Amino acid sequence: MWKCRNCSAELMFEEVEPDGDAHGLHFICHECGHRNKLINIGKSDEPLKLPQPDD
Ligand SMILES: [Zn+2]
Repeated sequence: MWKCRNCSAELMFEEVEPDGDAHGLHFICHECGHRNKLINIGKSDEPLKLPQPDD
């Protein structure tokens, strides 16, 4: 699962839909609306394995 960097909510992969825009890949926390950054590891066929950055 993913963890929100803002409110620490733990979100199942099925609950959020990763999105990409000019600023990069991210998902929006359903709890607080925070935009969480994701790393694109270049496997477009495995969108649910996008890791979160460690920072
Ligand atoms: Zn949140």
